[in-house]
Amino acid sequence: MSAPIKYVYEFAEGGREMADLLGGKGAGLAEMTRLGLPVPPGFTVTTEACRAYLETGQEPPELGVEAARALAGLERAMGRGLGAPDDPLLVSVRSGARFSMPGMMETILDIGLNDQSVQGLAKASGQERFAWDSYRRLVQMFGHTVMGVDGDLFEEAIAAHRTARAVADEHDFDADELMALTEEFKRIIRRETGADFPQDPAEQLARAVRAVFDSWNTGRARVYRHREHIPEDLGTAVNVQVMVYGNLGDDSGTGVAFTRDPATGAPGRYGDYLPDAQGEDVVAGVRDALPLSELKTLDPRAYVELGDHLRTLENHYRDLCDVEFTVERGRLWILQTRVGKRTAEAAFRIAHDLRDAGTIDADEALRRVGGAELTRLMFPRFDTASDDVPLAHGVPASPGAAVGAVVFDSATAVRRAADGEAVVLVRRETTPDDLPGMIAAQAVLTSRGGKTSHAAVVARGMGKVCVCGAEALTVEPQERRFTVGADVVVREGDILSVDGTAGTVHLGALPLTASDVAAALETGTGQDVPAGTAGGELTGAVLGALAHADSVRRLEVRANADTPEDAVRARALGAQGIGLCRTEHMFLGERRALVEAMILARDDGAREAALAALLPLQRADFTGILRAMDGLPVTIRLIDPPLHEFLPDRMDLAVRVACAEHPDPRDRELLAAVERMHEQNPMLGLRGVRLGLAVPGLMAMQVRAIAEAVVERRGAGGDPRAEIMIPLVGTVEELRQARAEAERVLAEVAAETGVDGERPSAAGTGGDGGRPSGAGTGADGERPSAAETGVDAERSSAAGATALDLPIGTMIELPRAALTAGRIAEAADFFSFGTNDLTQTTWGLSRDDAEASFFPLYLERGIFPVSPFESIDEEGVGRLVELAVQAAHAVAPDLETGVCGEHGGDPASIHFFHRAGLDYVSCSPFRIPAARLEAGRAALEGPAAADSSK
Ligand code: PEP
Ligand code: MG
Repeated sequence: MSAPIKYVYEFAEGGREMADLLGGKGAGLAEMTRLGLPVPPGFTVTTEACRAYLETGQEPPELGVEAARALAGLERAMGRGLGAPDDPLLVSVRSGARFSMPGMMETILDIGLNDQSVQGLAKASGQERFAWDSYRRLVQMFGHTVMGVDGDLFEEAIAAHRTARAVADEHDFDADELMALTEEFKRIIRRETGADFPQDPAEQLARAVRAVFDSWNTGRARVYRHREHIPEDLGTAVNVQVMVYGNLGDDSGTGVAFTRDPATGAPGRYGDYLPDAQGEDVVAGVRDALPLSELKTLDPRAYVELGDHLRTLENHYRDLCDVEFTVERGRLWILQTRVGKRTAEAAFRIAHDLRDAGTIDADEALRRVGGAELTRLMFPRFDTASDDVPLAHGVPASPGAAVGAVVFDSATAVRRAADGEAVVLVRRETTPDDLPGMIAAQAVLTSRGGKTSHAAVVARGMGKVCVCGAEALTVEPQERRFTVGADVVVREGDILSVDGTAGTVHLGALPLTASDVAAALETGTGQDVPAGTAGGELTGAVLGALAHADSVRRLEVRANADTPEDAVRARALGAQGIGLCRTEHMFLGERRALVEAMILARDDGAREAALAALLPLQRADFTGILRAMDGLPVTIRLIDPPLHEFLPDRMDLAVRVACAEHPDPRDRELLAAVERMHEQNPMLGLRGVRLGLAVPGLMAMQVRAIAEAVVERRGAGGDPRAEIMIPLVGTVEELRQARAEAERVLAEVAAETGVDGERPSAAGTGGDGGRPSGAGTGADGERPSAAETGVDAERSSAAGATALDLPIGTMIELPRAALTAGRIAEAADFFSFGTNDLTQTTWGLSRDDAEASFFPLYLERGIFPVSPFESIDEEGVGRLVELAVQAAHAVAPDLETGVCGEHGGDPASIHFFHRAGLDYVSCSPFRIPAARLEAGRAALEGPAAADSSK
């Protein structure tokens, strides 16, 4: 019989390994208790209890009994009863999910206070004001969170009392004022809900726990989970903990501390401290906190003790930790710890420093950074040479450079961003309700709050630029403006530059410059670490992580590049060849006239003349790219889009013809052609290999241009490695016929130029490692599969017939191609998965149409966890990739496979392609460093699919 489910754990019973059950916060509290740190005692209600509640709408029956038992234990340990009239025990009730969701769910403090116990607390603490402040906080939080009263009603009551007393802050209320306020809060609750604030401490506790469960499903929590890809069904744990007080006077306070700087990763403890306050005040940013270093003077003993605990925690977790702590009359308590959220910059730097210190090894350091973070570091920053005087300074809470139009509320940010505008969200301070606007904005700017305020923590987690606590700003959301001093007024829509690295705000758009990291990646080879330069620590950390990724990864990384300039850049960034050179852009611009001439040709002679004029231009295109990628493979895809894409717009032409008094005969001709070629659904029409087979001479021209470029480069002493790729094949017969045509042309060029078919050796290039050197050549007989399967004989003889032996392969971008990959492999030297089209054709949708219509709805409803065009749909499209790789390798074990759709640069997809056993991923040049990094991280995850061991 299985053991009964246990829903409640005392802190002393848990540990960090139980985070699924106890949530991150609960596991951290348990671990600190185990380590002997000064943690106020308490217990955790598990995520399992929450899930049961969310499923059935009722707490599991055992929960009440277990919670009562745990509470009794707490009361015994503390020698006080919950809410006892003379000297009450009070507890906090806090959410704590498996993954941190800062500020997204509920917290209720001071549970146990009522009309009697508030007197007891006043007596026991000797502070009447403190007791009434605690009680009014409880009534306010409980009224809003548990009883559903609009929080603004309480805020308005506070504001009215402030005005009546002519004080700036509720901090200045005396005990009588707070007593009156509490009574008023109770009246508000009665008026709004028809019920009284509950006086029974046990009822308060039970209802608070339930409210935390319910807060899992608030709109803002859902938005946050969606953005952070946190599963919907995890539920939250609830931590019930004995209250300690930072608001007992000047010898008390509360703060947040990090073991290193979470914005830059620089070593040294870091954080905020707010004297005479409760923890929520720091996070809410309602009063400006002091730098943690001030605690050294305010309370040297607590400061030293805190430092010891920070060290213990970092050594124990072997990572950046953050803690929330409270000093109660000189006694230090640690209320929470977790592995801290950090910026991309800090992630690289901390991993590198911990590795240097020997705290973690190189593999672990690589696991702790990611491709998305690396890409973020490659974005431009503001030009430091600019001598613009900042409008204001604030806390550099989350680095990066952003320019956008000022907006003052979340809804406007969302609306204007949806219209394609870059916006900067400016608030006094943010609350969890601002989350949609923060997501939509390029940057977040607040006038209040420190590095640990809500704005700072959330922006950092999102990688969003943030400056907070820019005190010079007076933000007036109602007026839709902020002012700086007497003279400067900034209104909604004005352009602002926000420098999250320097913590400055500038009027207008500042010039941008390349990031240090991007510059280092483009100039360095990824091996040498520039020391002592500005940003040297960061670039050193990035290059170090990349060097290790390169040393462990199995996947090659190639580039999608169509021009020599892109090829040069890609190579500098570490590309090991070109996985996709699209040729269609080579038919645009001035060449359009030639393409039109080819399309409109009335006879073979006219068409041949047009193609002959295109040939030298194409040859020059390919020569340039092959030169830039000398020694590395360059996979050139023959033209793919339907030809009418190169003709003028049908509607424009029709209007021109209809409106002209004497229409240009050429316009008429063009219009007739456009109408003839019009397709209802061009994505599924005359394109790809179909076009190559249907339009006489087009494919031959392109193959000839490639072949002649190869001959030219060889003549110049180069080592061109062109490969010919046929797009959109659905059946092996298409590929066979296209291949025969290509080989005929290659043989022709070989005969004309006297090229003997010798390919230069692959040795020493470093880029050809994954390619079977015999593919498509006379060396095919050496393939292990040839004798067994017999099918390679065809490929080998077909290929052997050419003297200019360029590999000829195909894209797999139709489900039929994937399902018949074993047959198609008979005629292919390589496969490249075109996952853009494969996703469209598997799902039966057109990307452009779908993204503009129902995608947002699908994402919002969770039908797509993430767009299948961004991250590979493993179950569907990915399954086709796996099937195709397996089928192809069954007949041709050495057949090279890669991916060249957008997914080739997406971190999660790269891990999938590694597992599926592909040889390479190909992506845009800018994403190459991230792809290298992720390919390395994928290799650390365990063995690739058996297929990859070939
Ligand atoms: C693809 O379909 O994945 C691909 C790379 O081709 P394109 O995006 O050019 O259609
Ligand atoms: Mg495609």
